[in-house]
Amino acid sequence: MKPFEYVRAASTASALDEVAHRPNSKFLGGGTNLVDLMRENIEQPDALVDITRLPFSEIREREDGGLSLGAGARNTAVASHPVVRARYPMLSEAILCGASGQIRNMATVGGNLMQRTRCFYFYDEAARCNKRQPGAGCDAIEGFNRIHAILGASDACIATHPSDMCVALAALDATVQVSGPQGERTMPFLEFHRLPGDTPHIETELKPGELITSVELPPLDAAGSRYRKIRDRSSYAFALVSVAAAVSIRDGIVADVRLALGGVAHKPWRALEAERLLRHAPASLEHLRFAVDAELAAAKSFVHNHFKIELAKRAVVSVLGGLMGLESAR
Ligand code: SF4
Repeated sequence: MKPFEYVRAASTASALDEVAHRPNSKFLGGGTNLVDLMRENIEQPDALVDITRLPFSEIREREDGGLSLGAGARNTAVASHPVVRARYPMLSEAILCGASGQIRNMATVGGNLMQRTRCFYFYDEAARCNKRQPGAGCDAIEGFNRIHAILGASDACIATHPSDMCVALAALDATVQVSGPQGERTMPFLEFHRLPGDTPHIETELKPGELITSVELPPLDAAGSRYRKIRDRSSYAFALVSVAAAVSIRDGIVADVRLALGGVAHKPWRALEAERLLRHAPASLEHLRFAVDAELAAAKSFVHNHFKIELAKRAVVSVLGGLMGLESAR
């Protein structure tokens, strides 16, 4: 690991100031991804500004019935919070599907958003990877691409976003609060992460020196919500496909629906087309299959991951159909 300077920030202002005045520095939260990548010499910051002492770990109910998740709140604390479990069960389920108990105890809300979108070639110094070295090429495209993207990929990168929590946040219409040299701003969660395009090494819309301070959840008006993750082994594995869904049915009609997919794209994939086709339509298996087919119509597979297209369709029908009470979808 390359030597680096360590600084502990005492306030938000000092954290922003330290990063602004140290070229090639990064904020340090739980460090579960960043330190891992530093050990592999993939990330090589000259300085780390420790933000774990800043007052960002609170999980607070909002006056509008929503919930505010401090950026420093540990993943375990969020997953086990009684309000999260009662009102946003898909979020609790998603977090508990991710990583391991030890990692969830260290990992923070902000760090979960900031983890690198990556595949196994990203760690391999002998492989070509446009994320590790822009312009080098991508060995995954002609290589072993079983876990890779089927939606929104580019000729530069076909990696998938690794987070489970972020898939739930995409479905929940969360917003991200950030502080930076230009002051504070709010970003819709769906605009926080980027598709790869020609610049897969740039993964978020954060500006230099900006710091996530909280993630805000609006009230969720849905009778049921669920997260399901399908993976090659039962723990400590990225999703092949995951589904975060919430739905409200009134008189047999879909009053509202939220649907996001994980393991299929460079960012959590909000299934807006499927939602549009389902909303105000009869809660039937026929409509559900039609909407899911439309959402996946643009899917493109590679040599080893063609199975993901059908897997994603079946996973959505199973999860959403189950929430709708459609027996034949289970
Ligand atoms: Fe790198 Fe992305 Fe290609 Fe994987 S898919 S090797 S992360 S450029």
